[in-house]
Amino acid sequence: MEIEPVIGLEVHAELNTRSKMFCACPVVDATTAKPNTAVCPVCAAMPGALPVVNREAVAQGVKVALALGCSINRVSIFARKNYFYPDLPKGYQISQYELPLAEHGTLTIRTSEGERQIRVHRVHLEEDTGKLTHVRTESGEEYSLVDLNRAGVPLLEIVSEPDMRSVEEAKAYAVALRQLLRYLGVNSGDMEKGVIRFEANVSVRWKGTDVLNTRTEIKNLNSFRALEQAVTQEIARQSELLRRGEAVVQQTMGWDEARGVTVPQRSKEEAHDYRYFPEPDLPPLEVTPEWQDALRAELPELPHERFRRFQGAYGLTAYAAEVLTAERAIADYFEATVQAASPHVSPQTVANWVTGELFGLLNQAGMEITQSPVSAAALADLLERVAAREINNNTGKRVLAEMFKSGKRAEEIIAEQGLKQVSDEAAIQGWVEEVLAAHPKETETCLRGKEGVANFLFGQVMRLARGQADPKVVRQVLMRNLQERRKYLDEG
Ligand code: ADP
Ligand code: MG
Ligand code: ZN
Repeated sequence: MEIEPVIGLEVHAELNTRSKMFCACPVVDATTAKPNTAVCPVCAAMPGALPVVNREAVAQGVKVALALGCSINRVSIFARKNYFYPDLPKGYQISQYELPLAEHGTLTIRTSEGERQIRVHRVHLEEDTGKLTHVRTESGEEYSLVDLNRAGVPLLEIVSEPDMRSVEEAKAYAVALRQLLRYLGVNSGDMEKGVIRFEANVSVRWKGTDVLNTRTEIKNLNSFRALEQAVTQEIARQSELLRRGEAVVQQTMGWDEARGVTVPQRSKEEAHDYRYFPEPDLPPLEVTPEWQDALRAELPELPHERFRRFQGAYGLTAYAAEVLTAERAIADYFEATVQAASPHVSPQTVANWVTGELFGLLNQAGMEITQSPVSAAALADLLERVAAREINNNTGKRVLAEMFKSGKRAEEIIAEQGLKQVSDEAAIQGWVEEVLAAHPKETETCLRGKEGVANFLFGQVMRLARGQADPKVVRQVLMRNLQERRKYLDEG
C-alpha cells in the first residue's frame, strides 16, 4: 500500500513597520545593528510599562489576510502566551489565541501537478522574541548573550490547514506565501535575515484514508532548502514507523542546519502548558468594516492573478509568466517595456529579452531589476530597432550589453560604432561574390548537392559584413547566386 504525507505549515513573518508591535522603538536590521540599541521599558519588560498597539502592523496584517481571502474578525483579542526563556523578557509573549485577527482563507499554489488551493486556518498578530547568541570561549567557558533589538518586532503568524500532500506542495506553499508578502510590501522576504521562518507539521497515513495521524512539528526552518530537506526526512522516518506498525510520538523537533538532520527537542507542548489568557493591558482590537474596505482598496494585483493575466493578455508561455511575476518589480518592468514599445514588438519578445539577456546582465552585476541601468523605455527603444531590422538580433544583444555598461541610449551606440544593419542588396551582393570567389572548393561541393555547405558560406558572408548584414537578405542573395551558378553548371 502507498503512504501519503500530510503537511501543515505555520509561517512567521516579521512585518515591515518602522516601529515595534507595542512600543515606539524602531525596527532595526538584526544582522547589522548594535545589540540592545533599540530597546525601551516596554520591550525590555520594565514593571509598569504598558503596551500600545502599532496601527500600521494591524493594517499590514489585515492586508495579508484579505489577500488570502480570509474573513477578518471585527474584534480580535490579544492574549498572553506564558513561557520562560531568556530571550523573552516579560516571561510571556503577546499573541492572539481564541479570537485571531482573521480566519478561513486560501492560497493558490502551483506545482508540476497543476494548481491547488491550500486552506489557511488563521492569521494572527504577535511579537517577536529577542536573539540569543551562545558563546564558548577558548578556555571552554560557556555563556549566552541576549540582544533585545528584535524583542517586540511585529510578527504575523499564518497557519495553514493540513492540506499539503507532498514536499513539493509544501515548498510551493512557502514560495507562494513569501511572494505574496513581498507583493504586499509587508516583508522583504530576506530569509537569511530570518524575517520569514517556517514550521512544518508532518504526519503520514495510508493513501485512500482520511485520518489525521499523530504529527511532529519541525521548528527553525529558515530556508526553502531546509524546509524541503527536513520534511523529506521526516516523511521517510514516519513512513518507516508506519510500515513497521510502530507509533509516531508527538513531539517538537529542531532542524540542525549544519548537519542537515532533524533532532527531537521536547515532547509537544499543549495549549494549556502556555496558560493562555486575555492580555489585560490591551483592549480588544477592532478592525471596522470601513478600515477593511480602505485597506482592500490598497491591495495591488496579486501574484497569481498577475500570472494568469500575463498568459491571457500577453499570450506568454506559463514559464515566462512564472518568471516575470516572481517579483512585483520584475512584472512592472516587463509591463512598462511592453507599453513603451509599439505593436511591432511582441510581448513574448520582450519576455525573452528580459528573462534572457537582461537577467543575465543583472545577474553578472549582482543587481536587482530596480537598479537596472537600462530603463524599460530604453529597452523598448532597442527592441523597436531590432524589429525594424535597423540592427539584427545579435547586434542587438551587443548593444544591450553596451547600454547596460555605459548607460547610453541604443541610438548613440549604433551610430558611434557604425552598427546599422546593411539590407542594401548591392552591398550584400558584393560580399557574396567575394566569399564565393574566396571559397571555390566549398562552393563547388555545395553546387554538387551538399546543401549543408551553404550554411558555411552564409557564415562567411556574415563575417565579412561584421555581423551587420540583414541575415534574411544575405540568405536570399546567397541562394540566388548559388542557383545561377548551378544553372550554369547544368547547362555547361
Ligand atoms: P498547535 O497550535 O499546537 O501548533 P494547531 O492545531 O494549530 O496546533 O496546528 C498547527 C499546524 O499543524 C497547522 O498548520 C495544522 O494544519 C497542522 N496539523 C494539524 N494536524 C496535523 C496532522 N495530523 N498532520 C499534519 N499536520 C497537522
Ligand atoms: Mg505549532
Ligand atoms: Zn521598545
